[in-house]
Amino acid sequence: MSALLEAIDLEIAYGEVAACQNINFTVGHNEIVTLIGSNGAGKSTTMRAVAGAMYPRKGKILFDGIDITRMPSYERNKLGIALVPEGRHVFPFLTVMENLEMGGYCHRNNRPKMNSLIEKMVTMFPKLKVRAKQNAGTLSGGEQQMLVICRALMSEPRLLCLDEPSLGLAPIIVQDIFRTIREINANNTSVLLVEQNAHYALGTASRAYVLQTGKILTSGNSKDLINDPKIKEAYLGTS
Ligand code: ATP
Repeated sequence: MSALLEAIDLEIAYGEVAACQNINFTVGHNEIVTLIGSNGAGKSTTMRAVAGAMYPRKGKILFDGIDITRMPSYERNKLGIALVPEGRHVFPFLTVMENLEMGGYCHRNNRPKMNSLIEKMVTMFPKLKVRAKQNAGTLSGGEQQMLVICRALMSEPRLLCLDEPSLGLAPIIVQDIFRTIREINANNTSVLLVEQNAHYALGTASRAYVLQTGKILTSGNSKDLINDPKIKEAYLGTS
C-alpha cells in the first residue's frame, strides 16, 4: 500500500532564499512520523508546505495518491489534513466550546455529529468540559494546547500535523500531550510531528527524519536513531 503522505524532492523558499531543499519523506497510514532538528533546520517550513500554508517552488506532495502540491489549505482540510501550528493559537475571546465548534465547522449542518465529536474531545480531555463556557484565552498553556489539538481533531483528519506541541510547557504537561498523541494515533489518525524535544519525539514516533540547515541529514526508525551516537550527541544531549 502506498504511503498516506509523500513529499518528493521539495524545495521551499521564502522569497528568493531556499529554506529547504531535496526534502523527501513519507508518512504511512496510521503512523506517527517526526521531523526533528535544531532551530532553523526547516521543520516548520516543511510542515507549512504539507498543510498548504506555503507552496514549494519545486517538488510534489501526494496525499493518498492525490497531488496536493498547489491545493489551498482549506481543500487539504477537506481531504483530511489538519494543522496545529506552533504557538497555541486559540480564539481567545471565544469560549472553549465555541473554539471546538469552529474546528467542526464542516459539520455545522449536522448537530448530532458535532455533538458526538465534542463528546469525544471532552472524554479525551475532561478539563475542557469543566471549562466549556470559559473564554479560551483564560486557559493555562497546557489546556490551550489540548484545546487546539481537539479543535483540529473536530474535522476528523486522517493526518494531524503538529508543530512543536511541547514548546514552553512544563515537563508533566508535555508527558500528557505526548500520551494524547499516542492515543489519537491509536484511533486511526496518522501524525506528522515537528519537535525540538527529540527525546519525546523519538519516544513517540515510529520513524524520524533529522533535518539540518534545510536538508534531511538522516532518517530511520526512532528506536535506531535513539541509539545512534551522532544523534545522541547532537540532539539528545547525551553520548
Ligand atoms: P524552529 O524550531 O526554530 O522553528 P525550524 O526547524 O522549524 O526551526 P524553520 O522555521 O522552518 O525552522 O526555518 C527554516 C529557515 O527558514 C530558517 O533559516 C529561517 O530563518 C527561515 N525562515 C523561517 N520563516 C521565515 C519567514 N517567514 N521569512 C523568511 N525566512 C524564514
